[in-house]
Amino acid sequence: MKNGQCPKCGSRHVYANTNRKSIPLNTITVGAQKASNRYAFLDTYVCTTCGYVENYLSKTQDLSYVQEKWALVEITSDNEVLRSGQRYLVE
Ligand SMILES: [Zn+2]
Repeated sequence: MKNGQCPKCGSRHVYANTNRKSIPLNTITVGAQKASNRYAFLDTYVCTTCGYVENYLSKTQDLSYVQEKWALVEITSDNEVLRSGQRYLVE
């Protein structure tokens, strides 16, 4: 998506709000620290052909915070889930 091509439909009509002049309205909560650091800004990419949307954290310090504090998602197959160190098949 960031390369200008939609990963769902292949269209090159991809637009991003990275040219905004004010702080972004789209955020996620990344932690419980003080309010000024609690919300991470998102860059939003939209395919105007199919409507597909992707969001990316805007700031490298937010990426660093998530990498340090959040849980790493284990790699699983499509029908297998890792729970408490045990693998379960999902029907
Ligand atoms: Zn698309």
